[in-house]
Amino acid sequence: MRIIILGPPGAGKGTQAVMLAEELGIPHISTGDILRSEIKNETELGLKVKAVMDAGNLVSDDLILAVVKERLSKPDCEKGFLLDGVVRTLPQAEGLDKILEEIGRKLTHVIDVVVPDEEILTRIEKRGEESGRSDDTREVAENRLKVYKDLTAPVSDFYKQKNLLIEVDGLGTIEEVKDRIRKAI
Ligand code: AMP
Repeated sequence: MRIIILGPPGAGKGTQAVMLAEELGIPHISTGDILRSEIKNETELGLKVKAVMDAGNLVSDDLILAVVKERLSKPDCEKGFLLDGVVRTLPQAEGLDKILEEIGRKLTHVIDVVVPDEEILTRIEKRGEESGRSDDTREVAENRLKVYKDLTAPVSDFYKQKNLLIEVDGLGTIEEVKDRIRKAI
């Protein structure tokens, strides 16, 4: 299976993505995780993206597509993959289509985890307190949500038109959401 998991920040998609990828035996590819590790290792890419990420803004499409292309070319992606946190803009969706075409693969499912705004802000703040993630403060969370609505929400329509989109209610316990995703795919 070649899956994308979409949803606003704090929708719980990371947690669901890790579980689903493990269950399906496919790599879990989170661009946020990749970039955070680049920052931690103080690589050139990490230094480039730190300020943008700390403000809750999006890293440029070109950089993201380069990261995704490199990751998808690794042999473990031959059996499938689960993309988490990417794609986040229409140009990324189009760019990913091109990358997949080049390697002769097609997406099989796009899962959209749907959660209301107020719940999202509460969850992100809580996650910030627990994990110390520097972009999980209320102020940055509000910006990330705005960025999501402006740039990422249109991506759902892109995949809806391709008949790939599955909307899943993200409210409830982790197990409940997990079950809904299982049934949906
Ligand atoms: P995440 O862990 O998915 O919430 O991502 C954390 C941050 O990394 C985002 O707020 C962006 O600054 C950056 N980022 C991760 N994935 C992408 C992407 N696909 N496009 C642009 N920026 C991204």
